[in-house]
Amino acid sequence: MPDENTTNRLALVTGAGRGIGKAIAETLAKAGHTVLCVSRNESSCGALAESIRSNGGQAHAMAVDVSDGAAVEAASEQLTEQYGNVEILVNNAGITKDGLLFRMSEEDWSSVIQTNLSSCFYWCKALGRPMTRARWGRIINISSVVGVMGNAGQANYAAAKSGMIGLTKTLAKEFAARKVTVNAVAPGFINTDMTAELSDTVKEAALQFIPLKRFGEVDDIASIVEFLCSENAGYITGQVFSVDGGMAI
Ligand code: NDP
Repeated sequence: MPDENTTNRLALVTGAGRGIGKAIAETLAKAGHTVLCVSRNESSCGALAESIRSNGGQAHAMAVDVSDGAAVEAASEQLTEQYGNVEILVNNAGITKDGLLFRMSEEDWSSVIQTNLSSCFYWCKALGRPMTRARWGRIINISSVVGVMGNAGQANYAAAKSGMIGLTKTLAKEFAARKVTVNAVAPGFINTDMTAELSDTVKEAALQFIPLKRFGEVDDIASIVEFLCSENAGYITGQVFSVDGGMAI
């Protein structure tokens, strides 16, 4: 049931088809927001939007390749024309293409930087201006513990996720006077398709570095994102919130 104290805002969540993004979209819809679900494949974001609507929420879907600046610009224009100005933006879409530096191809470097980091630049640029004009907005960038600590075998991903933190802090400063807050969430290991790919050996090794001794769940991330999007979070900006079972202590 939507919280009667929640103002219904228009929220756009990237990578909403699965995993963390799906949980964020569902949580924002339950809180009473209208959610624009974006993912790479129409099948995943479309199914989610339909399921939100069938549960009484409001959602629409659009397949957009977030690594393509022109595609993001065109989608932003179309979505704004159809549904109005986006007030909450959650940059969550992401991929990994791991490998030690000497074995990492430039293609794997670029596609991870484009999908994880440049996508945030594209969406913030396309949707940030109406937020600043309206003097209200929330931008949440889903970074990673790896962006805070680094991780062998993930130079591309760590660089992208650290870059998201720099972008977050910079836009927080640029947009503060217009009452648009910009924050990052840095998840640790969360149970999703992304971590399902890891071998049991890697998972066991990872657990040794997690003080709370378990992987997190998608709702652990969705709940903090919901708070950061709320009216009550209006005095928080430029911050990075680790949700990682204590990994980055
Ligand atoms: P998943 O792999 O489960 O889902 C990724 C989502 O991103 C999918 O919906 C996918 O679309 C979408 N996506 C990928 N590439 C593109 C693209 N080019 N254009 C549009 N959409 C795209 O990921 P998680 O839920 O695990 O991760 C979500 C975010 O959280 C990522 O940024 C990830 O880096 C970050 N994170 C995850 C952690 C974890 O342990 N799981 C830990 C730390 C950070 P489609 O459904 O159409 O394929």
